[in-house]
Amino acid sequence: MLGKLNMDQFAMGSSNETSYFGNVVSPWRRNDGGNAALAPGGSSGGSSSAIAARLCPAATGTDTGGSIRQPAAFVGISGIKPTYGRCSRWGIVAFASSLDQAGPMARDVRDCAIMLEAMAGFDPKDSTSLDLPVPEWEAGLNSDLRGKKVGIPKEYRLDGIDEDIAAMWDNGIAWLKDAGAEIVEISLPHTKYALPAYYIIAPAEASSNLARYDGVRYGLRDLPDGAGLQDMYAATRAAGFGAEVRRRIMIGTYVLSAGFYDAYYTQAQKVRALIARDFENAWKQCDLILAPTAPSAAFGLGEKTSDPLSMYLNDVFAVPASLAGLPAMSVPGGIDKQGLPLGLQIVGKALDEQGVLNAGLAIEERAGFTAEAEKWW
Ligand code: GLN
Repeated sequence: MLGKLNMDQFAMGSSNETSYFGNVVSPWRRNDGGNAALAPGGSSGGSSSAIAARLCPAATGTDTGGSIRQPAAFVGISGIKPTYGRCSRWGIVAFASSLDQAGPMARDVRDCAIMLEAMAGFDPKDSTSLDLPVPEWEAGLNSDLRGKKVGIPKEYRLDGIDEDIAAMWDNGIAWLKDAGAEIVEISLPHTKYALPAYYIIAPAEASSNLARYDGVRYGLRDLPDGAGLQDMYAATRAAGFGAEVRRRIMIGTYVLSAGFYDAYYTQAQKVRALIARDFENAWKQCDLILAPTAPSAAFGLGEKTSDPLSMYLNDVFAVPASLAGLPAMSVPGGIDKQGLPLGLQIVGKALDEQGVLNAGLAIEERAGFTAEAEKWW
C-alpha cells in the first residue's frame, strides 16, 4: 500500500471537486494549446489520476453510480465494478448501501483481473457479501469472442450524442465483431428513468447512512465551548459536510419524508425493478452489452460546479448497471478531437466478470490505445 488517494466527499461527485481536501487535477490537457485544468472524473479522481500519471500501477475505488468507470474513462485507463456483493465493503464508509461496490482501476484489463481476484471473496463482516468461490479471472482471460452475442442498446443513442462518442462506440462495435462476437440491437426501454431513480435512491440511502455522523461515535466532533448535545450535532454536521453532501442529505430526507415517500422513493424503487427487468430481458438476446462509459470526455474543472444537474447527467450511462447490480467495466476506446481519452463500457450478466473482462481485452487489443498524459507537471 503506497498511500491514500483523493476522492469526492463521501463518494458523492463526478469530478473530484467536492473533495474535503480540494480536487485533484487530471494529468491530461486538451490539444488546443491551452492549459485548462480538467476534471479527473469522480468520485475516484485521485485513483484515476494517480494511475494515469504513472504514480502507481493500480488503485481501488468504489462505484455506487459510476465512480470507478467514469474516472477511468476520463483519464484513459481501465476499471471494473464487479457484481454487487463480490467485494466486501467492510471498512468502507457507506454511501448508498444497496449500490455501493468496490473494484479495481488499472492501466490495462489484465491488471484489473489480477486486482479483482485479490479483492473479491466472501466476507462475513459484510452482510451483502456473496458466498461464492472467486474465479481465476486472470487465467481465464481470452479475447476470442466467437459464440458471444453483444447487445447495443438503442436507448443509449441519445439525441445530440457527442459525435466523437458515437464514433468511438461504432469502433467498439467493429472491434467486438472482429473478435468474433455477433452484434445485436437490443432495447432497454426504461433507460431514461435510470438517472432520476438513481438520484432519489442514492440520496435517500445516503441521508440514512450519514445520520450516524453526529459527533457522538464516528468521524468528526465539533463541540463548541459550553455546547449542549444538540449544538454538538449541529456544529459537527455543519463543519463535516460540504455543500454537495448537504444537498444529498436534504434531497434524501425529503424523498423519505412521510408525505412524499410514495411519490418519490417507492416510485424510484419500482423503476429500479423495471430497469433490472430490462437487463433480464436483454440477456435473452445477448451475453454482454456495449455502450459508452460517459456522454463526454473530461470536462474542465469549474465548468459544472454551479450546475448540479449537468454534473449528474454525466452519470447517465453508468447508473443503470449500478441499479441492476451488474458487473460493468470501462476500457479506453480512443481519443476525441480535443486529444482526450474516451471510455467504452461493457456490462455483463450477474457474476459474469469473466465475460466482461474478456470483451474488455478484445477491445484493448484492437483499440491500440497508447496515448499517455503529457508530463506537464
Ligand atoms: N457520480 C455519482 C454520484 O455522485 C456516482 C458516485 C459514486 O459512484 N460514488 O452519485
